[in-house]
Amino acid sequence: MPAVHSILALGGNLGDRKETIRSAIRALKETDGVTVLAKSPLVESFAVTEAGVDKSRPNYLNGVVEIETTLKPGALLDLVRSIERDHGRVRLERWGSRTLDIDIITYGTTIKDGKRLTLPHPRAFERAFVLVPWALMNPAAVLPGHGAVAALAEGVKNEVWVVK
Ligand code: ATP
Ligand code: CA
Ligand code: CA
Repeated sequence: MPAVHSILALGGNLGDRKETIRSAIRALKETDGVTVLAKSPLVESFAVTEAGVDKSRPNYLNGVVEIETTLKPGALLDLVRSIERDHGRVRLERWGSRTLDIDIITYGTTIKDGKRLTLPHPRAFERAFVLVPWALMNPAAVLPGHGAVAALAEGVKNEVWVVK
């Protein structure tokens, strides 16, 4: 199985957010078949729920990493879900507060709309907390189906602030 480059987005708004993201990246590094190639600065933003921005909830901390992996997409989803579980993730309500969320933003140039997995992540193109750190990590990045990440980030950059 040839190695594929993939962008993963990590974030959370409960607990020690920075340590949780660091720990999740360590877990990725320790996984056979995964190499972490780059990590972005971290950005903070207000919580968004289905009702919109909710400043009564704790702010989110988010970042992205670029990995190279020999895992197939389904196995990569199993991996990130198990890392979420290991960091206390529980699913109660849609877009509810959480210790750790890991989304697969891209898997190579794969485009698919499956039952368990949609690639690229269907909401990544409009999310400042994905686009802004990604563009900072790699100014030349491209989101398959949507174009230059830096240009997409430019339009939403006011929604997040860089913390590191
Ligand atoms: P959002 O998808 O809007 O970011 P969320 O991350 O809070 O919301 P979750 O509860 O973490 O949603 O995930 C729900 C399901 O989404 C997962 O169990 C998984 O099967 C599915 N899913 C589909 N595409 C992806 C993807 N690209 N990355 C991660 N999960 C995905
Ligand atoms: Ca998510
Ligand atoms: Ca998720």
